Amino acid sequence: MVDARDPIADLRRIAFLLERANEATYRVRAFRSAAKALAGLSAAELTERAGNGTLTELAGVGDVTARCVAESLAGEEPVYLRRLVATEGSDLGAEATALRAALRGDCHTHSDWSDGGSPIEEMALAAVELGHEYLVLTDHSPRLTVARGLTAERLRRQLDHVAQVNAALPEGFRILTGIEVDILADGSLDQDDDLLGRLDVVVGSVHSGLKDELSKMTRRMLKAVANPHLDILGHVTGRMVSSRPAGVTGPGDRGHRARTRAESDFDADAVFAACAENDTAVEINSRPERQDPPKRLIRRALEAGCRFAINTDAHAPGQLDWQRFGCERAALCGVPADRVINTWSAEQLVDWTHHRP
Ligand SMILES: [Zn+2]
Ligand SMILES: [Zn+2]
Repeated sequence: MVDARDPIADLRRIAFLLERANEATYRVRAFRSAAKALAGLSAAELTERAGNGTLTELAGVGDVTARCVAESLAGEEPVYLRRLVATEGSDLGAEATALRAALRGDCHTHSDWSDGGSPIEEMALAAVELGHEYLVLTDHSPRLTVARGLTAERLRRQLDHVAQVNAALPEGFRILTGIEVDILADGSLDQDDDLLGRLDVVVGSVHSGLKDELSKMTRRMLKAVANPHLDILGHVTGRMVSSRPAGVTGPGDRGHRARTRAESDFDADAVFAACAENDTAVEINSRPERQDPPKRLIRRALEAGCRFAINTDAHAPGQLDWQRFGCERAALCGVPADRVINTWSAEQLVDWTHHRP
């Protein structure tokens, strides 16, 4: 009698590692859909189907995923999983590792309620597995229609849903409510004021008019930063860099190529001074294609006395592990852990968002 592994856990692990390596979404989906399809089977049926080669008759299960299941059931680490683990990215330096270890949650994440790829439950489960104590769910606001931004009504429904999901999650972990609210052209925020007041954490970002001239963009950002609802200023420059960060290697190296976009023009010293004055945190966005703000601006924000939030802006569970990229850049710039708001507990964080000046 062999000691079988949990094939569904192996499939989910593969999906997570593929996402973490920034692989194409359809490849990740193949494993996650297979895990979902197989989760409905009894252990006996799973073993029988693996034995007689009929797993692939199930919708969502292909040759590759069926082979992984067979290997798992035979008690072996699937070859596919072993290769992924063997080709993972390089380790972080000591300071970045310490900073990453100090993080207790993530303040910028998306679900399939807006433009994310996975349900809230799946995102939360991945966060639990990463050792987080909380995950702030920050789906987009109404005017970002391309990202299925949530109307006030849908956001209210999401709040009810999050309360239900939280009740079923392990003790010591919770989803905090939030939003990535659009900073509109005039600097106002794209959601009802009373609703913004109900949320645990409000991230505000510019997603349109990124080529606005310097004075206009500065005015727009200053107005948003002065809004008492805004807790974190998201991906500050809006830039998109094409390359993946140095040291990140993985099977997806030749896959995904992000489009590039220049930084928007604004008076960074004025904006960071306003962030410090209003106690609004500056986001260090960890996404490989964003790396926003650039290091020279992280240093300036640090000198201005700003707090930071090291966020993933994850749109899929595996991307929740991208915080290490943000930590690497923060550590290079000398950002100390005590300036980073997601080193706090959920209680400290929510206490801060509700009592900021
Ligand atoms: Zn955004
Ligand atoms: Zn986002």
